[in-house]
Amino acid sequence: MEILVVLEHNNQTIHRMSWEAVAAGQSLGKDLNLSTTILIMGSDVSTLAKEAATKDITEVLVAEHPLLETYTADGYARTLTQVIESEQPAYVIMGHTYMVRDFLPKVCAILKQPLFGDNISYRIENSTPIFIKQIFQGKLMAEVSPQGNQPYLVTFQSAAFQSESVHRGAGATIRNLSITLSDEIIKTRSEDPFQETTIDVDLSSADIIISVGRGIGKKENINLVKELAEVMGAQIACSRPVVDAGWLPPYHQVGSSGQTVSPKLYFALGISGAIQHLVGMKGANNVIVINKDPNAPFFEIADYGTVGNILEIVPKLTEAIKGG
Ligand SMILES: Cc1cc2nc3c(=O)[nH]c(=O)nc-3n(C[C@H](O)[C@H](O)[C@H](O)COP(=O)(O)OP(=O)(O)OC[C@H]3O[C@@H](n4cnc5c(N)ncnc54)[C@H](O)[C@@H]3O)c2cc1C
Repeated sequence: MEILVVLEHNNQTIHRMSWEAVAAGQSLGKDLNLSTTILIMGSDVSTLAKEAATKDITEVLVAEHPLLETYTADGYARTLTQVIESEQPAYVIMGHTYMVRDFLPKVCAILKQPLFGDNISYRIENSTPIFIKQIFQGKLMAEVSPQGNQPYLVTFQSAAFQSESVHRGAGATIRNLSITLSDEIIKTRSEDPFQETTIDVDLSSADIIISVGRGIGKKENINLVKELAEVMGAQIACSRPVVDAGWLPPYHQVGSSGQTVSPKLYFALGISGAIQHLVGMKGANNVIVINKDPNAPFFEIADYGTVGNILEIVPKLTEAIKGG
């Protein structure tokens, strides 16, 4: 086995970013002519393993143990380390999720290997991948060339690859691994995972999204955006400061720690365009930006942009659309 992709799940569904990691693994496997294998850790994960086996990969490895029923960084780190030591992959690929950020540094420390983390893409040079990541809040790009002993442990940022582009296969074999874990190695236990409620918000399938940023100023002004969303038949999204301020619930947040969306139209109101926001909406077909700062980074990826005050423009726009 040459590329090992590690899946994250909540015992019921596989994390979207894990499918993106599978897409990355398949792509890298094709470019380097290496086989790709999937690993699932947990307890009673046979259904998820069968789902993974439908993809175009060589094998699904299943590492089951009662101590993996709920996630712990120690349990996952020890398990992945054992799998890496026994299976000797050249590359280990994961989504750059909170969970992976929690346990993967332990694996790196145990194996004394560096982490090639938070990449947005890679390119091949002399049959070797060069991993590309953003640094200094996206102002610079760094190209990182792995050297030294394998395995190379690599994570990709949300939306770096598309989960829809995962190739289906003829049915991979499923192999159960024997894992040794004991209670004493589990030093910390996480609290219950944060549960998102989606209520009436389905940003992932919305055609039109109106997204609001800190520029809206205060909670009461969100009503201006709601009125515009209503006349446009749009869903409302937001940047993280809007959630942090309690102006909208968390499930409206778009970005690296929020949802990933790909609407036909993304209408950004008073959002600066920080990279952590852009990674969540870069799949949008058309982007309209209104911002009072002509140098706001969001204008760089806008199809249409207006420099102005959203508190003045949004009510007029709503009236204009209503009037028809
Ligand atoms: C680990 C990590 C994860 C993160 N995850 C996310 C994430 O998932 N999603 C996310 O969005 N952010 C995320 N962030 C935060 C991100 O870095 C930015 O801080 C955030 O996106 C900025 O939000 P904003 O553009 O609304 O606010 P600001 O950066 O404060 O920008 C406000 C904008 O509004 C404009 N403005 C102000 N008033 C008006 C007005 N009246 N009319 C028009 N324009 C106006 C300003 O010119 C400015 O451009 C994350 C950060 C970290 C470190």
